[in-house]
Amino acid sequence: MSVAENLQRIKQKLPAHVTLVAVSKTKPVELITEAYNAGQRDFGENYIQELEDKNKRLPADIRWHAIGHLQSNKVKYIAPFVYLIHAVDSLKLLQEINKQALKNSRVINCLLQIHIAKEETKFGFDVTECEELFNSEALKQLHNIKIVGLMGMATNTENQNVIKDEFAALKKLFDKLATQYADIKTLSMGMSSDYKLAIQEGSTLIRIGSSIFGERDYSKS
Ligand SMILES: *Cc1c(COP(=O)(O)O)cnc(C)c1O
Repeated sequence: MSVAENLQRIKQKLPAHVTLVAVSKTKPVELITEAYNAGQRDFGENYIQELEDKNKRLPADIRWHAIGHLQSNKVKYIAPFVYLIHAVDSLKLLQEINKQALKNSRVINCLLQIHIAKEETKFGFDVTECEELFNSEALKQLHNIKIVGLMGMATNTENQNVIKDEFAALKKLFDKLATQYADIKTLSMGMSSDYKLAIQEGSTLIRIGSSIFGERDYSKS
């Protein structure tokens, strides 16, 4: 199936309140252009240099989502154009995004990554740390970032109940924050393998790579 057909198939079943981000990491600009020509405007990338490069080569009305773990020293490269940063996992990173956003006279939208999976390797705040951050004085100093929601990745498992419980826990935190803060509107959860479950559990944004562009081949890069 072509990229356009894959997009069509996924979008057909999406509720109107769910945004589809096409995750194009490792994929060539030709395939992104195919998706673009099929009407797709939101694209997600993990690697900063690749994101910078693709931003230069592709149409300016693409909304670029930085979805992977982000190092503070890389923020400056994407600050001029990034649409949404998904995986903010420390106050230090938020402060750096704020600094670079200010330099570019922008307000950059951010999602806080919440650690919901059982795996040790996944980055993010736990629920308590997240609430502490929202209550902190340090956050109030940052006028060039806007926290618009949360992002999370479920455990990589076949067990649907585990995934469901993790998504539900994230949704619960999201709902609580959304009642306190008007800007909190985006819940980024769900990838190719688990997006249907994520939508059932209240996701408003799904990040889909392989189901649109095919499996990634890391051996070539
Ligand atoms: C690569 C990636 C995705 C997309 O994964 P697929 O399984 O190909 O849909 C989604 N979210 C993040 C954070 C990723 O790194």
